[in-house]
Amino acid sequence: MSHLLHRQIHHDYPVGVSGQGVYLFDAAGKAYLDASGGAAVSCLGHQHPEVLAAMHAQLDKLAYAHTSFFTSEAAEALGDELIAHAPANISHVYLVSGGSEAVEAALKMARQYFVERGETGRKHFIARRQSYHGNTLGALAVGGNAWRRQQFAPILIDSDYIDPCYEYRYRQADETAEAYGRRAADALEAKLLELGPETVIAFVAETVVGATLGAVPAAPGYLRRVREICDRHGILLILDEVMCGMGRTGTLHACEQDGVAPDLMTVAKGLGGGYAPIGATFVGKQIYDAFAQGSGLFQHGHTYVGHPLACAAALAVQHVIRRDGLLDNVETRGRQLEQALRERFDEHPFVGDIRGRGLFWGVELVADRETKAPFDAKLRLHARIKSEALARGLMVYPMGGTIDGRSGDHVLLAPPFISTADNVEVIVERLGEAIEAATAGMK
Ligand code: PLP
Repeated sequence: MSHLLHRQIHHDYPVGVSGQGVYLFDAAGKAYLDASGGAAVSCLGHQHPEVLAAMHAQLDKLAYAHTSFFTSEAAEALGDELIAHAPANISHVYLVSGGSEAVEAALKMARQYFVERGETGRKHFIARRQSYHGNTLGALAVGGNAWRRQQFAPILIDSDYIDPCYEYRYRQADETAEAYGRRAADALEAKLLELGPETVIAFVAETVVGATLGAVPAAPGYLRRVREICDRHGILLILDEVMCGMGRTGTLHACEQDGVAPDLMTVAKGLGGGYAPIGATFVGKQIYDAFAQGSGLFQHGHTYVGHPLACAAALAVQHVIRRDGLLDNVETRGRQLEQALRERFDEHPFVGDIRGRGLFWGVELVADRETKAPFDAKLRLHARIKSEALARGLMVYPMGGTIDGRSGDHVLLAPPFISTADNVEVIVERLGEAIEAATAGMK
């Protein structure tokens, strides 16, 4: 019997014992093709020899030094690497141990930025319904997933929400994608005016929505208009690229494709590719300057900030991605994946939508394609698909959830950037089999 408190208390988890490239192996020697990179983490696949060598080399020199005493070569080098390729106006980066910590840091930086400027009355964050920004209390507070928040609501900071930008569910039949993008962004302005812009700190959104909606990019022009609205009303734009960032969508930062630069941006999963726990908050120049010319202190910190081993791992991951031109492979294999998904599922009676970018794709399941009615949540279709896929040696990342009964089950695919054409074929074939098995008898 395990003494670990697993998330699903009554579930028997297989023991993962080894990994190789796009495969994980359990204790019985069964191979699983990692089509979701865990949760969009393992961008380089498993056991990459160069990453392991860089980590060993770092361990031989220095495993840990507390950042209130020292910086480290690995952390400084990673900072240089990240800033060399950062979005416009980002001048510094704060290194933490994961996505939730990166979001917490962004929220606190945003608040402190206004405090440094004497605008202490600002207290609201605006985020979007059905979003996920992490499970620590601050990140959970800006997350707009009602189910996750419910039992913790009394102890969370107040946040306000607007609808997500989600064409499949929210674009009207007679509306162009651009007009919908404008309308969806204007909801932010309406919320700002309702709250009083002078009380608002920031708008928080994922550039491409991952876990909660399943790889949903913003409608054309949406994020540019959001940027304009934030600027017009003097609030900060925080983009959460913990899941969709660091190359997952085919560009290093997903926001490059939307032509938008944030004031603060979070990354994590693909940063270290799972080789070590690491995340980062990118900091806009005006925020850094306000701290530097003000109190001279970011009032925050964790014991493992800038951990040298994690930084060495992330630096090696990013080096391999750049040297091997893996973002080109994300584009090529991404196009193949899209085409294969469309060929396999475009006419499928239970597939309502296929969307994504790069190697980040979501397939949304519906009980009725005409009405877009989701399956009864009690069926837990997403969980069934996950276990049918696992039985077939395929890892996919499923999720169920509703916004006012409007969205249902989806499956998220986020295969490693090293995936081959054969891997992509196998992913779609096994996913097809898993969906057939999970929906058997439902037609
Ligand atoms: N933000 C987004 C968009 C995420 O998808 C996640 C995790 O899935 C987080 C934040 C939290 O990251 P972590 O689980 O590393 O704390």
